[in-house]
Amino acid sequence: MQFDTIIRDGTVVTASDTYASDIGITGGRIAAIASDLPADNAGTLLDAKGFLVIPGGIDVHTHLDMPFGGTTSSDDFETGTRAAAFGGTTTLIDFAIQYKGQSLRQALDTWMKKAEGKAVADYAFHCIITDVAGAQLEEMRALVREGISTFKLFMAYPGVFMLDDATIFRAMLQAAKHGGMICMHAENGGAIDVIVRRALAEGKTAPKYHALTRPTTAEAEATARAIALAEMAGAPVYIVHLSCNDALEKVREARDRGLPVYAETCPQYLYLSIENFDAPGFEGAKYVFTPPLREKWHQEKLWNGLARDTLQVVSTDHCPFCFKEQKELGKDDFTKIPNGGPGVEHRLSLIYSGGVHGGKFSANRFVELVSTAPAKLFGLYPRKGTIAVGSDADLVVFDPNAEQVISAKTHHMRVDYSMFEGIHVRGLPKVVFSRGRVIVQDGKFTGRAGAGEFIRRQTFTGPAM
Ligand SMILES: [Zn+2]
Repeated sequence: MQFDTIIRDGTVVTASDTYASDIGITGGRIAAIASDLPADNAGTLLDAKGFLVIPGGIDVHTHLDMPFGGTTSSDDFETGTRAAAFGGTTTLIDFAIQYKGQSLRQALDTWMKKAEGKAVADYAFHCIITDVAGAQLEEMRALVREGISTFKLFMAYPGVFMLDDATIFRAMLQAAKHGGMICMHAENGGAIDVIVRRALAEGKTAPKYHALTRPTTAEAEATARAIALAEMAGAPVYIVHLSCNDALEKVREARDRGLPVYAETCPQYLYLSIENFDAPGFEGAKYVFTPPLREKWHQEKLWNGLARDTLQVVSTDHCPFCFKEQKELGKDDFTKIPNGGPGVEHRLSLIYSGGVHGGKFSANRFVELVSTAPAKLFGLYPRKGTIAVGSDADLVVFDPNAEQVISAKTHHMRVDYSMFEGIHVRGLPKVVFSRGRVIVQDGKFTGRAGAGEFIRRQTFTGPAM
């Protein structure tokens, strides 16, 4: 058998197994997993001795080239997928946003154009639904058939994104009927809006008030309500960016009852806390995203949630805005600070470092959280999310002991600060393959814009874990 590439002598780590093997790649796919594949038969031979070989990371929550509050997130599909690749992530699921009065089709067309010719690695889309006055709920069926099998709804941001319970319930019924799944931004937007207005009236305009006006109770209430609506609709539900123990408890209770309820958290909630708002001057704005940072004690609860499968996925909610000129739009009013933070590049290192080196879970669980569970829940498995014959050769040769201090000076995201500045991580990607092509090797980018493809996702069939 002839191979384009053989990865030699690595330690293969999947969600279930760890073993020494060679991997043969042909035509962008994994063609063989065996010991002692004959070197003469390889176009390229890559020695992975001493390193792990893991499936490429899948980040199911990013916002590239996204308009928000009069500006646009600073990474586009080229710089964002490139930064992701540097961090070992080879598939992104971004969000096509339907604005008021638009069809879901228009949303999808807009975001397909944004990505086309730019992405360096593969991508897919969820569709954000903000208006159902027309035929949008009927359109969900057509989108599911075209590989957009998940829809994000908001229980926050009244007047912009927020939907009422009846609409959410109808969308859940529709999703369940056609093999789709609802992803929920769970915060009680109505109550938060009242608290925010009161704060502004009292002259509380600094960045920290973004966090202080969005209580954990608002997230827990909405999480519980989303779960109840999904239960009544007989639909699965996926809670995005879960940030606090209060909401985690709601997910745990639902899962204990056997409901198809899933949730993700993000590295910022595992590493940062409300103390970050003590940064001097306006610098707290760097940490303004939603849900906000919480008190430090929540971190340990979230790590435990990842270890015990109350949380199934780590995504980033990557939504970068530069500190200069973008975050500064809210200098005098925290409600005008564009919401979002940069993180797509550092997910694998932060989770490997804190989770595996931190003794919280195994390398297999790490792979499950950053790649396999995302692939299964979002209809990409087994094409992506594992190392198996026939799967895409999206692979990362990962050095479990390489160390780095995260800094905006060295990162590849197009943004002028890092949320994780100064944090030391152990465990870094060394070589990154996207469908058999090396796109990052030893800190050098070797891919090209436009090589990434849109991936049609399968319908939701349950995680089958
Ligand atoms: Zn988001």
